[in-house]
Amino acid sequence: MAESSSTVLQERETLNPYLIAQRQIQLAAGVLGLNQDVVEILKRPQRVLSVSFPVRMDDGSVQVFEGYRSQHNDAGGPGKGGIRFHPEVHVDEVKALSMWMTIKCQVVGLPFGGAKGGVICDPRTLSTGELERVSRGFIEAISQIIGPDKDIPAPDVYTNPKVMGWMMDTLSRMQQTYSPAAITGKPLSIGGSQGRSEATARGCVMTVVEAMKEKGKDMKGATAVVQGFGNAGRTAAKLLSDLGFHILAVSDSRGAVYSPAGLDVEYLSVLKETGSVVDDEALLRITQDELLELEADVLIPAALGNVITAENADKIHASIIAEAANGPITPDADQVLAEKGIVVIPDVLANAGGVTVSYFEWVQNVTRFYWKNDRVLDELRTVMVDSYHAVSNLAKKYETTLRVAAYMIALQRVTNAMTERGWV
Ligand code: GLU
Repeated sequence: MAESSSTVLQERETLNPYLIAQRQIQLAAGVLGLNQDVVEILKRPQRVLSVSFPVRMDDGSVQVFEGYRSQHNDAGGPGKGGIRFHPEVHVDEVKALSMWMTIKCQVVGLPFGGAKGGVICDPRTLSTGELERVSRGFIEAISQIIGPDKDIPAPDVYTNPKVMGWMMDTLSRMQQTYSPAAITGKPLSIGGSQGRSEATARGCVMTVVEAMKEKGKDMKGATAVVQGFGNAGRTAAKLLSDLGFHILAVSDSRGAVYSPAGLDVEYLSVLKETGSVVDDEALLRITQDELLELEADVLIPAALGNVITAENADKIHASIIAEAANGPITPDADQVLAEKGIVVIPDVLANAGGVTVSYFEWVQNVTRFYWKNDRVLDELRTVMVDSYHAVSNLAKKYETTLRVAAYMIALQRVTNAMTERGWV
């Protein structure tokens, strides 16, 4: 099992994602018995580019934006990972997210390493024109270190296919070469893949279904709670309700709503189109904390990081947690949840459907042969179900958590690649 709780719970735990990622790597490397030289390489990104770039705002003024691209490890293939636009983007967060991408790509067997980018901005306050100029400005600023065989960006928090389209266009213009394989998560008309926008949620629900089967639970009439109603949360809620789950509660950045009999997800999606899930006064409001603490078969944190920590882990009553977001549970919380017998499907597995279909998109761009939706779904299911069982079987064998087992599989693969390349 994990470290002894007495050693880690004494001090206040860190919420710095970079330190958390390092600790997760160290923990799984210890179980694997990896050489410390290898661990030291994996505990830091290979390259972090910090950029600032001017953007002309609609009122004629110039604003300087800052952003980062972190490339963690490319032993197993070119870097891969999204770009987030958020006011709280921090270099340590971007580094951690790039480390999680290496683990994610490797655990599901994609020929990619890990990377991640972030721009400090609040897209909700930008006009469409300003958002376009920020997107183009950032991709130009990092263009030296990205490309179809170097590092391939994609969407993440508050970025979407439209943003990816502008980025791909900027790169193609700069190189005077049509380069769809340089960016994934693009609109369909310029080389996007069928099924990419729902892929994170679909992959997540596929792992939930396997975990429910392992627990001998029936999907019909089961209960679920979803935190976050962006692309992943909203689609996951819809897919779970299609499977027969009652969606007890959902939330977005403005608040949470609850119904013991189950919410109407379609209706909430309509509310969200023009505002927030809390826009109907008739719905029962609860707090974000109350939402996380509800008793349910499945809890899906699909918002931001560090929402389940040492502070609230003992109040969580879900039976299965599937991390659609990156980094929602801290290592101390992980330990408490494991002691309570709660199954946590870790982010690096639960939300790997997104990057998996990004990989399919890249393959389609490189080969110029485009797949039908059914093929995307079939291939995605194979990857997710096989990866889930590989992780679950290893967790049983080592009597450890799914997170540690997922890291063990991924770290072993990266280590093999680094060894074969002669790095260690
Ligand atoms: N941003 C997503 C993630 O965290 C997708 C990355 C990708 O498609 O490259 O996995």
